[in-house]
Amino acid sequence: LVSRENHPQRSTVTVRGVPIGPDTVTLIAGPCAVETPEQTLEAALMAKAAGATLLRGGAYKPRTSPYAFQGLGEEGLRILADVRERTGLPIVTEVVDAHDVALVASYADMLQVGTRNAQNFALLQAVGAAGKPVMLKRGMTATIEEWLMAAEYVAQRGNLDIVLCERGIRTYEPATRNTLDISAVPVVQRLSHLPVIVDPSHSGGRRDLVLPLSRAAVAVGADGLIIDVHPHPEQALCDGPQALVNGDLDDLAAVMRDFPPLLGRT
Ligand code: PEP
Repeated sequence: LVSRENHPQRSTVTVRGVPIGPDTVTLIAGPCAVETPEQTLEAALMAKAAGATLLRGGAYKPRTSPYAFQGLGEEGLRILADVRERTGLPIVTEVVDAHDVALVASYADMLQVGTRNAQNFALLQAVGAAGKPVMLKRGMTATIEEWLMAAEYVAQRGNLDIVLCERGIRTYEPATRNTLDISAVPVVQRLSHLPVIVDPSHSGGRRDLVLPLSRAAVAVGADGLIIDVHPHPEQALCDGPQALVNGDLDDLAAVMRDFPPLLGRT
């Protein structure tokens, strides 16, 4: 279903009127985690100023440590909905449990499945049946074939509104949090008709790498970027070191403005 063999034209997925596909480069930005109404609104305004047309923000956080901040749950979803109202930015947010899909889908405009759940087949089937566009991150140890088969689980439930997100894979290299597999973008675009975006924040895990990796992603033909921003990253409850701050936003806006249109993107 997701293969390009039977579907030669590359697809565009529309999230509450915002297109993600070969005719544009879509910026999704916002806080890693929803922490407070003020922080979420500030981050959303930063994202919008940099050219974002979709707001990211996690209300359910799949953390490596059970002692780390796990997200605000439904309260976080309510904050996101309120910030959507104030900014006009549709919401992309993660769902981590099949039992929460209906609840998260009642607030979200796009459901995100994270790297740690990339082969949680019950969750993939549940989001496939939820009637909302899905962003499927690559599992941190998933081959491209495994990633596409995960997308197939979503598609099998009747939902082809799927965006694939390369977010770095685990390698032997500890200098970066993950290794951005930049070649995955054109490889997957040749194998699948689905849009492919890149998460340079979770790939590098370092603020100083977000802009260079964003430029690389756009140059190689990614259909969009998803980026963490935070008004006060030193106080962030999740992934502060990779969040862009106000001073970085002009550079991010320039990456978006100067992207080479349609380079290698058909
Ligand atoms: C996220 O985008 O909030 C996230 C946790 O990403 P990943 O699943 O890629 O680690």
